[in-house]
Amino acid sequence: MLRWLMGRSAREREFEQALETLDARVWPPLLARHGFLRGLDAQETEALRRHTAWILANKSFHGAHGMRVTPEMRRSIAVQAALPILGLDTSLYRGWTQIVVYPGGFLVPRTETDEAGVVHEYVQETSGESWEGGPVILSWEDARPGTDTPSNVVIHEFAHKLDQRDGGADGMPGLRAHRDLDPHRWREVLDRTFDDFNDWLDEVESLIPPDVDPESDEAAGWYAELPLDPYAAHDPAEFFAVSSESFFIEPWAMAAAWPDWYELLVRYYRQDPLRRLEGAGVERPVRP
Ligand SMILES: [Zn+2]
Repeated sequence: MLRWLMGRSAREREFEQALETLDARVWPPLLARHGFLRGLDAQETEALRRHTAWILANKSFHGAHGMRVTPEMRRSIAVQAALPILGLDTSLYRGWTQIVVYPGGFLVPRTETDEAGVVHEYVQETSGESWEGGPVILSWEDARPGTDTPSNVVIHEFAHKLDQRDGGADGMPGLRAHRDLDPHRWREVLDRTFDDFNDWLDEVESLIPPDVDPESDEAAGWYAELPLDPYAAHDPAEFFAVSSESFFIEPWAMAAAWPDWYELLVRYYRQDPLRRLEGAGVERPVRP
């Protein structure tokens, strides 16, 4: 009991110290470096600062492949990770401690069973991983601010963390603290939107000429008309994670395509990035 209390007060001290480091010299430039944080009001900005400090105090950062994780990198990852829980409780990020940072994409062994029951083992390069009850693993090349894309690997992996709470990664985060959200409705809207996206993706892929490599830059123009990155079609858990990236970074296309899915995310995250960004004068980016 006493040790638990001592541990708790040590954590609180670490939190207070982390909060102090996010001072007037450090905090405003940190916000400015992450364009998607524009439009937060004073109360939201202070909540973000406290949640960022909580992450810095409660998570340990480790560099892999010789990477040195600087205080600035830690703050950048923490402030991005804090955004999804801005209107929620930090307890949603409890139950694990490590954030591992690679300099760039890293290789992960995968196993997949095809429809014929044949198991395929292969190695895949990825920019992020989130292990249930374990670490979040990030590629700094993809996580650092200023990469002008609608994707965000930090928000993606931390959305998986929210999804993994209360019954595994299935595209439905724990809704215990959301009495206004009906799990059946979540499932229904998620499944319908996920199916619609898969049909849309099939249609787009059928339009790409056979001599164009779907992985090439040339094919990007076809995929650009989709409201989400094609990776969202993988399964409902990835659909929720990729939707969360778009929700916070570039919500325009998703909100227009699926207003009811967007509205559910507004109610879950208790924030409306579309309204916030437009209120700050941010215009919908033009993609090729
Ligand atoms: Zn994912």
